[in-house]
Amino acid sequence: MKIIMLGAPGAGKGTQAKKIAAKYDIPHISTGDIFRANIKNGTELGRKAKTYMDQGLLVPDELVVDLVVDRVNQEDCADGYVLDGFPRTIPQAEALTKALAELGQKMDYAIDVNVPDENIVNRMSGRRACVGCGATYHMVYAPTKKEGICDTCGGELILRDDDKPETVQKRLNVYHDQTQPLIDYYTKEGILRTVDGTVDIDDVFQAIVEILGA
Ligand code: ADP
Ligand code: AMP
Repeated sequence: MKIIMLGAPGAGKGTQAKKIAAKYDIPHISTGDIFRANIKNGTELGRKAKTYMDQGLLVPDELVVDLVVDRVNQEDCADGYVLDGFPRTIPQAEALTKALAELGQKMDYAIDVNVPDENIVNRMSGRRACVGCGATYHMVYAPTKKEGICDTCGGELILRDDDKPETVQKRLNVYHDQTQPLIDYYTKEGILRTVDGTVDIDDVFQAIVEILGA
């Protein structure tokens, strides 16, 4: 099963993608996580990506597309995968469709996790990320057992630089301009499904399982 997660920054794509990956035993591919790992490891790609990410802008398509196409061609993706944070522009979506068509493949579902802008700022300001393993929590909606400490690896939790309020509004504008048009794109492809992302994490997941099948 090949799945794309769509939705505004902070809508819950990563939260749901992890649950989908665990239930259906397929890889979770997050371009944001890939960039953050590159930044942490001090790679050239990380250095380039950071200049855009810190400003709340998208990393240029040419730095993203080949990376994802290479990743989905790896062996562990043979039975499917869940893409989180990609595609984010029409050219990225077109490049993905074309690369898959060359292999005689297509995506099965694009799931839009729908959350209004008013809720997003709240979501982002409470999001905390582990500096060690990248796990994501929310101070109110998905708290750790011990405040400030990652449940998985014991690492320190931080507010991502791009989750600061001044950057969040910019990321939302970028989402509306460049990413929201993908809803039309995948509606036309016949694979768009929408879930209400404002309800509890487990209820959003239940709605997704109803779409994908148990
Ligand atoms: P995205 O990957 O779309 O940017 P995340 O999955 O990181 O978003 O979620 C953003 C924040 O909101 C995180 O702190 C997460 O714990 C929290 N969150 C995710 N889904 C929900 C939900 N349904 N209700 C409340 N908080 C949520
Ligand atoms: P995310 O973790 O998905 O919220 O992504 C964090 C940041 O990484 C985004 O704000 C972008 O700067 C960058 N990024 C992640 N995925 C993409 C993509 N598909 N295209 C362009 N930029 C991306």
